[in-house]
Amino acid sequence: MIRIYHVGKVLHPRHVFRISRASRPQVDNVFLVLEQDGVLGYGEASPNSFFKEDFFDVNMRLAGLHDYFRRQTLSGPGDIGRIWNEIWERVAPSRATQCAVDVALWDLHSKLAGESATESATGAAAHAVPTSATLGICPREEWPERIGEVAGFPAVKVKLDAQVDMDLLQAIRARTPAAIRVDANGAWGGLDIADISARLEALGVEFIEQPLPPGEDARMEAILRVSRLPIFADESCAGPDDVARLPGRFSGFNIKLVKCGGITPALAMLREGKRLGLKVMVGCMLESSLLIAAGAVVAQGADYADLDGSWLLRDDPFRGLKMVQGRIEPNFAPGLGVNPEPPRD
Ligand SMILES: [Mg+2]
Repeated sequence: MIRIYHVGKVLHPRHVFRISRASRPQVDNVFLVLEQDGVLGYGEASPNSFFKEDFFDVNMRLAGLHDYFRRQTLSGPGDIGRIWNEIWERVAPSRATQCAVDVALWDLHSKLAGESATESATGAAAHAVPTSATLGICPREEWPERIGEVAGFPAVKVKLDAQVDMDLLQAIRARTPAAIRVDANGAWGGLDIADISARLEALGVEFIEQPLPPGEDARMEAILRVSRLPIFADESCAGPDDVARLPGRFSGFNIKLVKCGGITPALAMLREGKRLGLKVMVGCMLESSLLIAAGAVVAQGADYADLDGSWLLRDDPFRGLKMVQGRIEPNFAPGLGVNPEPPRD
């Protein structure tokens, strides 16, 4: 029998989930702990207002699964996919809720099997995953400090609004040889993207993410034809059903576990993207190292990773994920390989 052991904003009252190096002072993620045979599996969701989700909504939907889980037993990975499908009618339209359940089930299943979640989910031992670090939009006087924070990473993902500040890119290039990727967050609808892409290419930028809002995907065919750089979908690609309509409009896409509903659909998206010849990136929201460790499982087979969510936290409630010079080190511990930090006195 699976039991919901805990669901809530914190793993312990003395854990405060705080953000540093980011504009928001605090983020309210939801943690789920499932138990079977005395073993605990940890799950997490980072509810996103873009998908009209918040802490209260996800927390309520998870708490509504107590009776469902009491009738379940986890005896193999097939049960994870079955449960993922079965709970949808109870938790729709919240993919974040589904994500917390799916991640907790993979952690629990692989701990019960005595192997790492990567071995359970992919059949192979984990390898290191290099990740980009995100540089948000900030005042010019903060550039030296903010660029200094990300300069040691193998790649920097720069958020650029409709101003497309080329000075910022030049300042980054002067400071680090890191790969530079640009995320427009849908802000470039009124701009000449052919021209911008040529100027970004001259600065050595690797690719552009989500230049237009997702409602304008029909314009992407013409834009992709004239762009000098590959273009990745983020908000235009939430779950497995979105991947098939990307070829011709985007060069690749950004998988986030909380957008699609966890490791299970993310692996399906990865397979489908590869089959269609698309590039695949695994990204994240502001998340503890639990959800980053889950993202790293999927990133084993991806082309790029943008898994800096827990690096941005001042108070990560989990321990065990090692990041060395912007590389998430392989973790061979059972499950996702992270455990709650003991509460402080
Ligand atoms: Mg993005």
